[in-house]
Amino acid sequence: MGMTSEAPASALQSARQAYEAFRARGLKLNMQRGQPSDADFDLSNGLIGVLGENDVRMDGQDLRNYPGGVTGLPSARAMFAHYLDVKAENMLVWNNSSLELQGLVLTFALLHGVRGSSGPWITQSPKIIVTVPGYDRHFLLLQTLGFELLTVDMQPDGPDVDAIERLAGTDPSVKGVLFVPTYSNPGGESISADKARRLAGLQAAAPDFTIFADDAYRAHHLYEEDRDEPVNFVVLSRDAGSPDRAFVFASTSKITFAGAGLGFVASSEDNIKWLSKYLNAQSIGPNKLEQARHVRFLENYPGGLEGLMSAHAALIAPKFRAVDEVLRAELGGNGEYATWTSPRGGYFISLDTAEPVAARVVELAEEAGVSLTPAGATYPAGQDRAGRNIRLAPTRPPLEEVRLAMQVVAACVRLATEEYRQGRGR
Ligand code: PMP
Repeated sequence: MGMTSEAPASALQSARQAYEAFRARGLKLNMQRGQPSDADFDLSNGLIGVLGENDVRMDGQDLRNYPGGVTGLPSARAMFAHYLDVKAENMLVWNNSSLELQGLVLTFALLHGVRGSSGPWITQSPKIIVTVPGYDRHFLLLQTLGFELLTVDMQPDGPDVDAIERLAGTDPSVKGVLFVPTYSNPGGESISADKARRLAGLQAAAPDFTIFADDAYRAHHLYEEDRDEPVNFVVLSRDAGSPDRAFVFASTSKITFAGAGLGFVASSEDNIKWLSKYLNAQSIGPNKLEQARHVRFLENYPGGLEGLMSAHAALIAPKFRAVDEVLRAELGGNGEYATWTSPRGGYFISLDTAEPVAARVVELAEEAGVSLTPAGATYPAGQDRAGRNIRLAPTRPPLEEVRLAMQVVAACVRLATEEYRQGRGR
């Protein structure tokens, strides 16, 4: 009797002791920001000076002047068309943010409808499906624009397509789905070829049901040999007989400089014309000098863009391995305290606590000097009803800090779990 009733208390005590030892160290570590490290940025410092003062022309255009149109510099279109595996005609290269481009496309859809719409979406109580756990800025963008969000689970092989078929199959106000197809934020899952085909061919109640694929991590493989295969929604949609169904977004934010590079979008030629018409009303064209800089820098980089991504992988993969190693060592691999994803690419790891203690873990970590993404951020309106999900962002801190921060996180998970189980009397 004594043994069994005392065991939980001692587990709690030892968890508290371990945690207090970390807290006493006065650490200041940040595992919150999905940002490249300074070492990642340094790989692209050549970008800053790659154009000389006489490099004022490219593709027969004067980079200093307006003319050229809204679809982007031809060389940049060609480069990023190759990146997204489409033709240059299917590509529009814009300015520094793919999120802004997503906002522009969604806004034009609200105001005018997309091709195939009967009218503006804004008058149709539009709903968009998102995956959870997911990217807080997708939720913020959609909710700021007035969309109602419907959630489906992100599964190891991509969004729950059965659920998407159910939601979109009967309700014409379900206008689309926004998600990350490759190495998703936060779990690192990639959509399978089979699920991608089903989405491209989905029989939606809305004739203008649209796939908004934010392919921010398409080339962000961690390992040379063990990679997820990115899908091609532009081609899949065309082959399924719905050529205008998909917009695929990406940027150089996690390739060269975050927020100081290029955002771009691939879609059918007709959709690129549709988008160009509206962009042209608000801009004479994107920043061609930045586009030329990126083209020159990336084509000169040893191995090109792929070579640069391999150099990033060499810096980032050890950090992902460290997260996994520390969690495994501290929490075991049997899910007693938590489970977590082991992505083969991207920027994040998603951790689920065994008990509903995510908010407590984040709070304990903060008190011990480790800043984590706020609990709930991976759900619309910050509402993680299960209270279990935490996004881990290991790319920004140096490797040794990642290791230490994860030891603290593991101690917090243990303590929060033991507190919870103690309180519940097991
Ligand atoms: N999409 C996803 C999935 C992201 O994780 C991020 C960056 N955290 C972005 C978009 C932001 O991209 P950009 O800088 O091109 O706006």
